[in-house]
Amino acid sequence: MQQPSVPVFQPHLGVDTVKAVTDAFDVGWIGMGAETRGFESDLQATLGTDRPVVATMTGTSALHLATRFAGVGPGDEVIMPSFNFVADVQAVAWTGATPVFADIDDRTLALDPSRVAEMITPRTRVIMPLHFAGIVGDLDAVYDLARTHRLRVIEDATHALGSTHGGRPIGSFGDITCFSFDPVKIITSLDGGAVVLPAGADVAALHRLRLLGIDKDTTERYRNRRAWDYDVLDTGFRDHMTNINAAIGRSQLRRLDEFVANRRRDARAYNEAFAGLDWLAVPRTDFAAVGPFIYTVRVAAGRRAALIDHLRTRGIATGIHFLPCHAKTFCRSFPRGPMDVTDRVSAEILTLPLWSSMPRDVRDRVIEAVVTFEPARPVATPGARARS
Ligand SMILES: *Cc1c(COP(=O)(O)O)cnc(C)c1O
Repeated sequence: MQQPSVPVFQPHLGVDTVKAVTDAFDVGWIGMGAETRGFESDLQATLGTDRPVVATMTGTSALHLATRFAGVGPGDEVIMPSFNFVADVQAVAWTGATPVFADIDDRTLALDPSRVAEMITPRTRVIMPLHFAGIVGDLDAVYDLARTHRLRVIEDATHALGSTHGGRPIGSFGDITCFSFDPVKIITSLDGGAVVLPAGADVAALHRLRLLGIDKDTTERYRNRRAWDYDVLDTGFRDHMTNINAAIGRSQLRRLDEFVANRRRDARAYNEAFAGLDWLAVPRTDFAAVGPFIYTVRVAAGRRAALIDHLRTRGIATGIHFLPCHAKTFCRSFPRGPMDVTDRVSAEILTLPLWSSMPRDVRDRVIEAVVTFEPARPVATPGARARS
């Protein structure tokens, strides 16, 4: 079996990042500290917002802490897409609340607000939309629903660093926003996440959730010191970001504009190269408002496996984001509405390689491999194109 030589993801870790790590080690304070605070203010500056930012250990912990911060607990329900990573499901399940699945919009692959509306019950507390692949769906309608039914919104922006909505960066407006900086995201802190809160929110409460319910210690740690005389006020976790991770994240954040520009350029090149293929549908965006985390195409269900094989023999790896959560054993009992679009999209979607810094010849190899694929037999065209 030939090993794929073009991976789906490839983080860009330059000498700047390596230097950031050694510098951070030299300080000698490895745990949460001044770099963590620095990462938080750098992220605020990047987003152009005064909203409080709290850095976390992972994107999953950001979603979990945000859900708790929103007061969600046993008996409550949180509506999210099943077309999703299971991290969102677990983050909600950890609070004792029930994840509830709503279908997505065939065009944007984001939550379909009319499907969300059908799933709202007296137990619903939060809507958790995912900006899949960095593409923001009908977010205004989600916020309208939340306002009408007095719900919180926790945006899963783990795909959407660098995306905008109505000209404003995702994370700079709205209710609560969560980011991820795991190894494959647009920028990485090796592992990391962040919660962005509304202005004036009780950020100390989120600090306590992040670190073992401990009160007042955060200020000391942000000076690379430790408070010995602290109180513990409530349940808390151990979900903070260390100085080392933060230093890596800061070095990457400085290059975000460059990474997003590279990804937009390559995503547009893919869109253009594939526009004439009648057996494949490309994302319906020009990426101007998108920080493209992944690049996905849709192929009619019966052809996807053949295309994956075709690409693999040419040394090109692919991925599938996502097979639906509602089909996983753990999630089968959770309430859900109709899943027609989710099921169709999950059978059609395919992720092609897209990196923060992908050499042109690699991109051209991917394009060449895709356009030389000859679908075996006529089958129904993929949904997105059929409706365009
Ligand atoms: C990456 C990701 C997460 C969680 O991020 P981690 O940092 O890996 O914990 C959650 N949801 C989605 C959809 C993601 O892609």
